[in-house]
Amino acid sequence: MVKVVAGNWKMHHGPAAAERFFSRFSPSVEVGAVRMVFFAPDLSVAAAARAVRVPAEFGVQNIHWEAAGALTGETSAEMAREAGATLALIGHSERRHIFGENDAEVNSKVRAAVRAGLVPVVCVGELLEERRAGRLETVLRRQVGAFARSLAGVPESMVAYEPVWAIGTGETATPEDAAEAHGIVRSALGDLAGVPVLYGGSVKPGNAAALMSAPDVDGVLVGGASLDPDVFARIAEAGAGVRPGGPS
Ligand code: PEP
Repeated sequence: MVKVVAGNWKMHHGPAAAERFFSRFSPSVEVGAVRMVFFAPDLSVAAAARAVRVPAEFGVQNIHWEAAGALTGETSAEMAREAGATLALIGHSERRHIFGENDAEVNSKVRAAVRAGLVPVVCVGELLEERRAGRLETVLRRQVGAFARSLAGVPESMVAYEPVWAIGTGETATPEDAAEAHGIVRSALGDLAGVPVLYGGSVKPGNAAALMSAPDVDGVLVGGASLDPDVFARIAEAGAGVRPGGPS
């Protein structure tokens, strides 16, 4: 399985900036050596998909679980698909901790993504106080357990382990920390053996290869470092250079 290198632009890069990004984004990777994904703001997905010059897939950063309705400001999975998205990020820590999304809502969104034919990319991860209290495994098993059954029989899905204390902070889990957490996620996924598990949390060109070489780390989800086309290209190149079992 090639590594997944996914960027989460968060609330950055409107349509014009997305076009500028792709006018410069030119990683030195062979076609098929890495799977590149961009989670763009809803309004930028179509512009980004038009402007991209390398093989890449596009996703939205959030969806509502209803297909349509009186839900001002929300976007359904079906609408995201119509706009050109093929994946949906679900349960990102900013959604959980700033917007108060809970495990049941995350599961409803996973089901909505599947219904619309989007690949759900579901984020899990512990707070610093949960880690310090020795609750890493309990938290991850609870979060994964809330949606795992909804992935059974689904053609494609992914999980991203993103320790909340490492997101946007410059603090990164060590490859050993990542391997431990990914082992827990993989065990909590049970029979869902083929689901790639990505690591996210202050991934940079300098740590990307080591993280992607860790056991059970199938790729990375990158926030801040995905905003600059040259920096993100170096992470994509790191992903292309990592073969299962270690760096090439
Ligand atoms: C993220 O937003 O998913 C993320 C991992 O952010 P950063 O890389 O900036 O820590």
